[in-house]
Formats: sequence, structure tokens, C-alpha cells
Amino acid sequence: MPTVGHYIDNKEVASNSGKTQAVWNPATGVSERDVALASVEEVNAAVASAKAAWPAWSDMPPLRRARILDRFKMILWDRADQLAEAISMEHGKTHDDAVGEVTRGLEVVEFATGIPHLLKGDYTENVGGGVDSYNMRQSLGVVAGITPFNFPAMVPMWMFPVALATGNCFVLKPSERDPSTSILIAKWLTEAGLPDGVFNVVQGDKLAVDTLLHHEDVKAISFVGSTPIAKYIYETGTANGKRVQALGGAKNHMVIMPDADLDMAVNALMGAAYGSAGERCMAISVAVPVTDAVADELLKRLTPKIEALKIGPSKDAGSEMGPLVTKEHLEKVQGYIDAGEKSGAKIVVDGRGFKQDMQGYEDGYYIGGTLIDNVETDMLIWKEEIFGPVLSVVRRPDYKSAVELIGQHEYANGTAIFTRDGDTARNFTRDIEVGMVGVNVPIPVPMAFHSFGGWKASVFGDHAMHGPEGVRFFTRIKTVTTRFPSGLREDPQFTMPTLG
Ligand code: NAD
Repeated sequence: MPTVGHYIDNKEVASNSGKTQAVWNPATGVSERDVALASVEEVNAAVASAKAAWPAWSDMPPLRRARILDRFKMILWDRADQLAEAISMEHGKTHDDAVGEVTRGLEVVEFATGIPHLLKGDYTENVGGGVDSYNMRQSLGVVAGITPFNFPAMVPMWMFPVALATGNCFVLKPSERDPSTSILIAKWLTEAGLPDGVFNVVQGDKLAVDTLLHHEDVKAISFVGSTPIAKYIYETGTANGKRVQALGGAKNHMVIMPDADLDMAVNALMGAAYGSAGERCMAISVAVPVTDAVADELLKRLTPKIEALKIGPSKDAGSEMGPLVTKEHLEKVQGYIDAGEKSGAKIVVDGRGFKQDMQGYEDGYYIGGTLIDNVETDMLIWKEEIFGPVLSVVRRPDYKSAVELIGQHEYANGTAIFTRDGDTARNFTRDIEVGMVGVNVPIPVPMAFHSFGGWKASVFGDHAMHGPEGVRFFTRIKTVTTRFPSGLREDPQFTMPTLG
């Protein structure tokens, strides 16, 4: 069986660690390859390669770095289908959804090609007599990205395009569950002209992550994954003196006001709750209809659509929703539905009995779309992130209690409100304690030139990803004050210099 290995110094490198893990095709339930799990020495080799590449790479004019990224971007445009196929093969999402993922990642590359402009500093002439001052933003050195399974191309691309454009060298530790896209990306960066060692990939598990977290040459860690691991990464990385941004889990609520365009809201919920089988950190997992009348009508319109969902492999162009990523995850999601039922919620559409009868795909990790009504805040299915195609409905009598409900949750990644009323929409965007907010937009994922990040337990650290926040995260500010001999001369001065 083939083993997905590392990519160090612009070359694929087989692992000697002797440790591997199976990678599953979720559509068939068959393992077609293994992934290597790096030893400490292999992680160290990737960091050493990045460290050796950094002086020349950081010294290269930003415009030249941008041109390499621009070539990479064109490769991505040309081969989006190929990358999407690699994603679907190990993640399970539909082909079009995977192409969408590639495009959203590519947009960050596009943003990063504007780096000469983004790195321009401020300059102030004559801050004192004959004295001028300016600042520059310089790279950190070797930085690492640790990424989750659900966006094996897009999430790494939230990080490395900005990290590389700003002059850092990068070590990526992708998810063990879908490692192959990282190698394609690395090969295409090489093809675009990236010098040896600037971008490296190490496959691995906790040992690889811990090695990065404790490595003195790794200056910053960018992490996306579940909240308990994000917290661990933040605490361990910062304790070791690193800059850390760690994005965690989510429970995103969508409020549907009585004046909303209900058909628009229903269609939005279908895509946001069931697209990518709910395995998106910006998926809507809780619908909050305001008033029982809205709730009843919403359920009436949603139910037949959920029952009609086309669930199948990415190879079938008609599939609207693929399988879950692994058997364990399928069982976990089924367990949440069981728990919801036991705690008294009403299962309106039950995905647990779904059977895939397409030949060759009978053993895939499929589950049907699920809709659960009368969910309350003391239930596990409201408190925890399910990360599957399960939409909970929490009914609320008015706007105020809907906002309070969202404020009660520990997660605060994304949220949305559906309304035609400008005042309600404006109040919501101002009142709500959540990082990314949509008005009649169910999945308000910011574009590449804005920044992505939640609040509360959905993020640890001070910087969101990509956009201006990404540039700040991957650079250090240096402020320079200059004076030349023709400027004002002074006698030795022993007090704090001031303008007086
Ligand atoms: P995960 O936390 O299990 O894994 C993420 C990464 O951490 C992987 O590379 C994994 O190898 C590593 N890891 C796992 N356990 C570890 C441990 N004990 N010590 C050190 N490293 C460890 O997450 P996942 O299941 O791959 O992804 C799904 C999660 O990611 C969901 O919670 C989802 O909400 C979240 N997510 C968040 C965002 C966001 O922007 N906030 C985006 C995508 C996914």
C-alpha cells in the first residue's frame, strides 16, 4: 500500500519512523493508502531546512516573492479539479464543494501577491528637528501551520501564502485523515519556483505537533482545529515563547425573524447545515426561529428538502452531500442524535437509518440529513459541536431572547440573522458577541482581503487569519528613527528626549 510521506527541501521524502496510520476513502470505506507519522528527527529536519532557507528568502524583494506565488496561483487555477479530486478522495466532500474550497484558498494566494503594497510602512517626516521616523514589518523566521481535516487545501492556504509572502519559511503539519493534498500543493509550489526549504510538509500526529511546539527555531504557530487542541496549542506554544493563533470549534446559530424571506432562509439553511455534511466550522448547526409560527412553517418547508437530499460519493456529479470523514466520526454523530432523542428533543428527520445502495459505496460513512426540533440549552446536542449534517431547532419567542441564546454559548465563531428589517439587522450586528456575522448570508466566511476568526472559545490568540490580520501575525514591527549630520546638532543630552 502506498504511504503519503513528507516534503522537505523541495523533495518528497519517505519516512523512516516506522509509524504509519491508515487513510480511508470515506465514500467506499476502503483504505487505499497510509500516512507516515513523523519522528522527532524528521520534524527537526523540516525545521532545519526552513531555517536554512530563511535568510535568502526573507531578503528577496517582496515583489519577487509575490511573482512566485502568482505562478503558483495560475497552477492552482489550471489544476483546481485535480486538487479537488484529491480532497474528495480522502475527505468525502462533493467535487463542486471541493472546487469551492480550492477557490477560497486560491483567493488568499491572490491576496498575498499584493504583498509589496501590504508591507508598505508609515513614514513621518520631521518627528523632531532633523529627525524622521518610519516603520517596517519584518518576517519572523520559521513558522508552522497545523491544520484540520475538514479543509485540507483551504485552511493551509489561509496561512502559508501570507506567511511566505511576508518572508517567512513554513512547515505544514496537515491532518492525518486527508494528507495527500498537502503534497500536491508542495509540488506545485516547487514548480512555481519556490526555493528549497521555504515550504515543507511533515505528516504526523501529536508527536510531530509537540516537536514543533517545543522547537526553539519555530517562532510562530498557526493552528486550526477543535477547541481542546487549540487551547493546548495556544498554552504550550506561548509558554515556549512563540506567537500563536489557534482557531477552535464552533456552534453557529441562524436567527430567522418573522419578517424574513422564509424561502430564502430555508434554502440558506439547506446549504449551510448540510453542505459538506456539516463538517464546516462555519456550518449552521442551530436554527433559531423567532415565534412558534415561524418555527412551524420553517419545519414544514425544510422537512421535504432534507428528505430529498442526494447523498452519495463525489464521483457522482448529482451528489449534494457526501459521507462523513471516518467511521469513528460517523458513530460519534449518530451518538449525538441518540443523545438528543434521549434528552427529549423531537427527531423530525432522522438520518441514522440512511443506507447507501450505490454499487461499490455500500460501506461508505454515509448518514442522512437530520433535523431535531425542541432542542433546549441543557441538552448535549446544543452544548457541543456535532460536526455532522444535524440541524437543531431552538425556538425563541422574540429577538432579545434569540440574542441571549447565542450569547450563552461558549463558542462564537459565526452567526447569521435573516430579516428584512434594517434596524433589527443593524442591532444584531452590533449586539452579538460573535466574530463573523451574516445578514441574510448564512455562512459569512470573510473574503481573503478581510480576516477570518471567531471570538470566545472559538479562538485563542489575538490575530485572525489572512487579510490584514494575517500580515500582522506573520510580521514583527520595527520602528526606525533617523537623523543625519546635516540635521540639528546637539550637545550631549542626559534627559529623556522630547520636543519640549
Ligand atoms: P483536531 O483538533 O482533531 O485536529 C487538528 C490538528 O491537530 C490535526 O493536524 C491533528 O493532527 C492535530 N491534533 C489532534 N489531536 C492532537 C493532540 N492531542 N495534540 C496535538 N495535536 C493534535 O480537529 P479536526 O477533527 O481535524 O477538525 C475539526 C475541528 O476543527 C472542528 O472542531 C472544527 O470546528 C474545527 N475547525 C475550526 C475552524 C475555524 O476556523 N475556527 C476551521 C476549520 C475547522
